[in-house]
Amino acid sequence: MTRKAVIVGAGIAGLAAALRLHEIGWEPVVIERAPARRNGGYAVAFFGRGYSAAERMGVLPALRERHFGAVEMAYLKPDGRHRFTVPRDAVRALLGERGLTLMRGDIEEVLFEAVHGKVPIRFGTTVSAVKQADHGVRAVLDDGTVLDADLLIGADGLHSKVRELVFGPEERFRRDLGHVVAATTLDHLPDGARERAFTTVTRVGHIFMIANLGRDRNAAFFTYGTPDPAAELAKGPRRALEQAYRDVTWAAPNLINDLSDDNVYFDSVSQIIADRWSDGHVVLLGDAAWCVTLFAGYGSSLAIGGADLLGTVLQRYPDDIRAALREWEAELRPEVEERQAMGRRNTGSHAPASRLDLLKRDLPLRLAGFPPVTRMLRRHLRFH
Ligand SMILES: Cc1cc2nc3c(=O)[nH]c(=O)nc-3n(C[C@H](O)[C@H](O)[C@H](O)COP(=O)(O)OP(=O)(O)OC[C@H]3O[C@@H](n4cnc5c(N)ncnc54)[C@H](O)[C@@H]3O)c2cc1C
Repeated sequence: MTRKAVIVGAGIAGLAAALRLHEIGWEPVVIERAPARRNGGYAVAFFGRGYSAAERMGVLPALRERHFGAVEMAYLKPDGRHRFTVPRDAVRALLGERGLTLMRGDIEEVLFEAVHGKVPIRFGTTVSAVKQADHGVRAVLDDGTVLDADLLIGADGLHSKVRELVFGPEERFRRDLGHVVAATTLDHLPDGARERAFTTVTRVGHIFMIANLGRDRNAAFFTYGTPDPAAELAKGPRRALEQAYRDVTWAAPNLINDLSDDNVYFDSVSQIIADRWSDGHVVLLGDAAWCVTLFAGYGSSLAIGGADLLGTVLQRYPDDIRAALREWEAELRPEVEERQAMGRRNTGSHAPASRLDLLKRDLPLRLAGFPPVTRMLRRHLRFH
């Protein structure tokens, strides 16, 4: 009898799970709240477990086609004056042979194309109730549809509805890291931003970065420290960023002025700390389960790696889903916790909280072209 899965969320985690479960002979269906495929994004580094999983799942060639190669990293003062640049060769050495620089939307697109025609995706709907039985799970959608399945996968991101319905309210699991992040794609590269580069302005406690990964592939992101992320979010992205970046005169004012609520991702930087990721026939995957945050730089890699491993254990225990989920979590959890700890540690180095922290962050970057420093940074950033 063919096993059925309902996957909530068509992000990187959900689409990767759909692909992997289809591959092992399951019948997945994906439920996505957005009315159509979301393609927004920012630049991500993709390596480690995710890279190996993508290789096994057959999507690595398509990801490699979109890989931009190494970029240079230019650091500017708030008025646009040059501070220092980490050359492309040093960045290439940092990322290593098995690392890619991609837009988040590239990964989603590749997975979407890989499942197209194989797995149905229902857009514009969500799950409103979940009921578990001994041998399966029932999901009720907000349009009244009832879906019975062997497994329900909550891959619906940081603010997961599945987690809320099955495990409890978000506040119980969310750990705010005292920062907010705004990210948006850009239709042009602002004057003074470099091509094939990450151009970063650092002011104490604030980062503003423009990424260019080739023609028409531009993104901006902002992240800054705040004692009260909720109050910042309540202001909306334009007002919050206008206030937080008023001292940054290079490029930021125009970009912020052009923002509208629907072309920007604006959220607090928060981790999800849950002592278990499954309950009966329901499992959480990706940011819904563990959100390591952008400070860990590993969320996409873990989402695909986690989906791949889920397929492997479900194949290993075809008649015992609970045993499969136990094994999945036991294997994945040490790496997730290590990356979460790294995300917390890195909070200060992404948006240095003082001049001293800024100097400490910049020194190894300024020296990144020297092989011993490259090796030290690779270890520090866990680029393997
Ligand atoms: C600025 C920034 C930089 C980053 N840089 C990196 C990096 O360098 N490397 C890296 O590996 N990772 C990086 N990440 C993290 C990475 O993008 C995520 O961890 C990764 O995309 C995993 O996403 P996900 O599929 O679990 O969740 P999401 O991408 O949030 O997808 C969840 C999906 O579920 C849908 N959904 C939500 N609620 C519902 C609902 N109730 N019903 C139905 N559908 C729903 C959403 O619309 C969405 O499609 C970065 C993140 C940010 C914000």
